[in-house]
Amino acid sequence: MDSSLYIRQARLHGQEGLSDIAVRNGRIASIEPARPEPPPGNLSVIDAAGRLADRGFVNIHTHLDKANLLYRMTPELFGGTLEENREFLKRLKRAYRKEEVKERARTVIEEMITNGVTAIRTQVDVDPTARLAALEALLELKQEMASRITLQLSAFPQEGVLKAGARELMEEAMRLGADVVGGLPLVESSWDDRRRHIDILFEIARRFDRDIEAQVDESNNPQEFILPYLAEKALAEGMQGRASATHCIALSAVDDAVAARTIEAVAAAEMNVIITPSCNLITRFGLPEGVASRPNNSITRVKELLAAGARVAMGTDNIRDIFYPLGNGSMLREMHVLATTTRMTTNDEIDRLFEMASASGAAVMRLESGIEAGKPADLVVFDAATRRDALCGPGVISHVIRNGRETTRSYILTKEGDDTQCR
Ligand SMILES: [Zn+2]
Repeated sequence: MDSSLYIRQARLHGQEGLSDIAVRNGRIASIEPARPEPPPGNLSVIDAAGRLADRGFVNIHTHLDKANLLYRMTPELFGGTLEENREFLKRLKRAYRKEEVKERARTVIEEMITNGVTAIRTQVDVDPTARLAALEALLELKQEMASRITLQLSAFPQEGVLKAGARELMEEAMRLGADVVGGLPLVESSWDDRRRHIDILFEIARRFDRDIEAQVDESNNPQEFILPYLAEKALAEGMQGRASATHCIALSAVDDAVAARTIEAVAAAEMNVIITPSCNLITRFGLPEGVASRPNNSITRVKELLAAGARVAMGTDNIRDIFYPLGNGSMLREMHVLATTTRMTTNDEIDRLFEMASASGAAVMRLESGIEAGKPADLVVFDAATRRDALCGPGVISHVIRNGRETTRSYILTKEGDDTQCR
């Protein structure tokens, strides 16, 4: 079915003057210098009026099955350490029902769409407590919302893969249609078991021909540093370009020589590094013995990874749940946190932030993307003329277009009785 859309007078990043973007059948058909008048014909027209049109955001790491669990928590459930929170979560997960999980996830997806997100990779707990309930819910939702959002599901073994039955559940998740093998080596009890956890992720990935995304090194404790093993394993298995490591915070805590060697290995294994700025900073953890510091946290060595040619992509991580009681699905907000904490504030660095929040995530998900003729029309029109203004402003996204169709737009009432005017 033809779904023609015409975006007029749009500003494109890095280009002089304004452009008109013609969209047909879900793809950008042409980009031409802006005409003074709208084109003839029966087209759906968006008047960008000089505002910036840019790629849609890709939220590469979140947990939709846990989203909004905050509202099911009583104060005593809000624990202090990461380990305690994981235990509390089990109590909530035992009550999971398919429709309830879908409802929470759907609400947050809609919120992300409003925030300009056109594709999401979500982790979904697959473990002896949740079993496959959350995955089945999200698989249904993926189909139901296919016209509005691109959704990828990563089966996430929140309780490890060594427990009895845990690996079998992960394999069943792959058969049911999970897109990615998730991992969390930290939950295993010894270093040998954590390495074995990673080995098993590769075995499952090979068997089902899937990419891997493992959450590693969630705190700035140099003693919790398994990233080098993941990189080594990806190289040894010949799985270059197929493994992602999320968080990698300890990389900021080890000494510079160790970090440099590890970054080299990460780049050689063509791994993706995924960061979730707000959650990275807040993650609470018990103080390991012998580490005399306050329970602060940090963000991985983003600039050094980028300089080494590693792909770095960005996600929001948890939204209003036991691990992160805030969040609204805004990638602009995450970019702001990252810009501030890493001091990435020059124009070039702001471009890198936008890349991490869109193009890099799309590459991790293996999606086509770009503002050019022939590419899928997944784009947003900001209520701003430049990327810096979009980042500094109130975060309003005027139009969100996914697969050539407008999925949401922001309105303000200009005056009573007047038609709403798009801002
Ligand atoms: Zn996460």
